[in-house]
Order: sequence, then C-alpha cells, then structure tokens
Amino acid sequence: MKEISYKPTIGLEIHVELKTKSKMFCPCKNDSTEKRANFNICPICMGHPGTLPVPNEEAIKKVIKAGIALNCKISKESKFDRKNYFYPDLPKGYQISQYDMPLCQNGFLNIGERKIKIRRIHIEEDTGRLLHSEKGDYSLIDFNRAGIPLMELVTEPDIKSGKEARKFAEELQLILKYLDVSNADMEKGEMRVEVNISLSKDLKNLGTKVEIKNLNSFKVVEKAVDFEIERQKEILERGEKIIQETRGWHDKKEITFSQREKEEAHDYRYFPDPDLPKMYFTDNYINKIKQEIPELPSLKRERFKKQFYLDENAIEFFVINKDLGEYYEKVVSEFEEWMKAEKIEIEKDFKITPENFAEFIKMIYKNEITSKIAKIVLEEMFLKGKDPSNIIEEKGLSQIKNANEIEEIVKEVILKNKKAVEDFKKGKKEAIQFLVGQTLSITKGRANPETAREIILKLLKEEK
Ligand SMILES: [Zn+2]
Repeated sequence: MKEISYKPTIGLEIHVELKTKSKMFCPCKNDSTEKRANFNICPICMGHPGTLPVPNEEAIKKVIKAGIALNCKISKESKFDRKNYFYPDLPKGYQISQYDMPLCQNGFLNIGERKIKIRRIHIEEDTGRLLHSEKGDYSLIDFNRAGIPLMELVTEPDIKSGKEARKFAEELQLILKYLDVSNADMEKGEMRVEVNISLSKDLKNLGTKVEIKNLNSFKVVEKAVDFEIERQKEILERGEKIIQETRGWHDKKEITFSQREKEEAHDYRYFPDPDLPKMYFTDNYINKIKQEIPELPSLKRERFKKQFYLDENAIEFFVINKDLGEYYEKVVSEFEEWMKAEKIEIEKDFKITPENFAEFIKMIYKNEITSKIAKIVLEEMFLKGKDPSNIIEEKGLSQIKNANEIEEIVKEVILKNKKAVEDFKKGKKEAIQFLVGQTLSITKGRANPETAREIILKLLKEEK
C-alpha cells in the first residue's frame, strides 16, 4: 500500500497587549497587573449609555510601528468596527475592533530561511476577565482589563511545524520588545497565541480547521502543534473525519482536548462604529513613525557577525539580552578609543578577541565571577590573550559552588568578628556588608557575594 502523507497547514492569531499609559478609548490606567478588582474602570470602558470613546493615539502609533517593522503595507485610511456578541466580560455587548480596513496588511517575518507572510494587523480593545469559583457555582468579573489596547496579528497559513510556530512567536516577541510596543510576556497574558491547524494530502483542498487556544508559553505552542499534527494524522489514517472545533492544552497530560465544537461560523454583525470617525494617515505621519524604529534583531545579528566576528550563540545571547548587547558594544568601543589614545595597534598588541571578550561579559552577567575575579581575568586576557574560562581554571579562580564550604568560612568570619556581629544585632545593618567583605577576602573573591550574604543572615538568625 502506498503511504499516505498528510501535510499540515498552520496559521497563527496572536493578541498582544500594548504598552500605553491609558486604555484604548478612555483615560483609565492600562495596568493588567492591578490586583484590586474593578479598580481601573470608568463609565466609558463600562459601556454606560451616553458615553463616547476617544481613540488612544499612542496605541495606534504603536501598531503602525509594529506593522512597519513587520514589512506591512500601512493603510492610509482605516476605521473602527463593532464586533457584536454577548459575553459577560464584554460590558458594551460589542467589542470595538477593525474588520475590513485594518491598520496594517500584507507583511512578512523571516524565520531563518523561511518567510512567513502576515495577512493583517489590527487594533482592538481587550475584554474583562472572568474568575470562576472552585465549585463552579458562581463567577466573578474583573473589568480592569476591559478596554486595554490590543494588537491582533494574523499570519497566512505558511507555518509547517511546531518549531516554526514557536520561532515565529519568539521572534515577534523580540521585535515588539525592541520597539517598546509591548512587554509581550506570555505568562502574564500580555501575548496570547492561538493556532489554526488542518491536515490534508494536497494543499489545494485544505482539511477541516481546528483551533487551539490558551497556549501560555513558547514551549507549549510547539508541543501543542506537534501533538495536534499527530492526532489529526491518526484520525485521517483511520479514514475518519476531523471535527471542526476549539481545543485547549492540558498542561499535565501534554495533550490537546476538545473545548467546544463550532456549530457555525459566528455572525458578529460587524458594522462601522458610529461613535468613531474614520482615520486618515499621511505619508509624513507614517514616515515619522518609521524614523523612530530602532535597529531590529535581524539587522543586529548581521552587524554583530560582521563587526565583532562573534559566533551564533554569543550573537543570540546579546540580541536577546538587549541591554547586555548594548553594554558589550559600549565597552568594545571604549576599548578601541583607549587603544587609539595609547597608540596600541589592534593586530599587533591587542590580544583579546571579541569572542573571548563576549564570554567574559557573559560570565559577569551570569554571576559566575565576582568583580574582583573579573579584574584579574581581564588583566590576564589583556596580557596573554587567553580565553577567560582557561584563565579561571589555571589560576583556580572558579566560584565556590558548594554552600557548605562557604558556610564553614562564614562561621569562621562570625567567630573572628564579634564586634560586627554585635553591631548587626543592635540594628546596624551596614555591619552585614563588612562580614560579606571578610568572607570574600578569605575566599579571594571566589565566594558569590549573594550566597555569602544569605548564609551570614541565616547563621545570625540562628544565633539569636
Ligand atoms: Zn475606563
């Protein structure tokens, strides 16, 4: 028998909470971390009769900025529409969204060699949050989130695997952070990924679409897609049919499960919101936003490769940890200036390679070496051009990882420094710094100061 091979067709719908001071259509604070229920609400976001929405320009600008960064065509003319449906977390009975005239269309994002097309990016408002009681006998509604500006991005069904879905979401998050459009923290619900997936033998006749919702991490996005491909494949190979439905992800069992079957496509009765006039954007307006776009991750990767000859891991580390990448660049350029001033020639006299220097900064950042050790290592790197991990090994400078070993030293320090211990007990908090200093001095900087501090505090507490 000929083996039947099914090809997956996958598209993503991603919602992102925008980083603005106020909500989308009212002056309420945009703060999804607010713990006091129904604290950031007003008659506008509660949909009281007689109130009028006023669009938040900052939110619109941020979506346009994301659109430009994602190679979209920015609409010169756009509008808001009402998406009508009834749900308890939607106070107005409709959501203000965009239907046929989204802010951005026809973009793309490159994931390695693959180009994933973006169908549209539009702006809308978030809903409130429902909190169900444990027994399920009642539900509470918190409207703090209602009206927070949301960006919705829809890809074309270009994605082929769980890994690609994950990569797309990760790269998008990175870009949004670079643009300061959103923090896009998935755990906090600031970025929510939904997957549409179907399997078919030929791409002309697509299979039945299944939607997977509530994916709260990149890892889960990848796992859920891969699981769903296998699940659908098995059903099709048995000669059965896929049901059009919405599925969720079960974290412990690591499976998708049916949440609800879709009877019909929803009729949201979209129509232009009569309270909000059409929006028009001039070339000048769009160009100004374009000028605010910083160097994006893809360009930074290329530049770091060319300029500093770093390997892929180091580059990715500095691209993801943006602050550190900037710090690295700053130090390198200071080095260069200093060498110019000292008339040191880089080919002849300067022995530190960018590679080794990148590793050195990573070690400081990851707290693997203290500043005291860092000075010794840097000096050695400068004089002999060795790589930092070799120097640390040769000179026995590696950090003491064993907490018991540090504890023994701390005990000694406490015994020898009764005055400081007494001072601390009398409430002189600076005394702890002295004790940490003593511990570092005995270990020649090989103890992690944080660990030392914790152990000192622990032992002093026990003494009391
Ligand atoms: Zn409000």
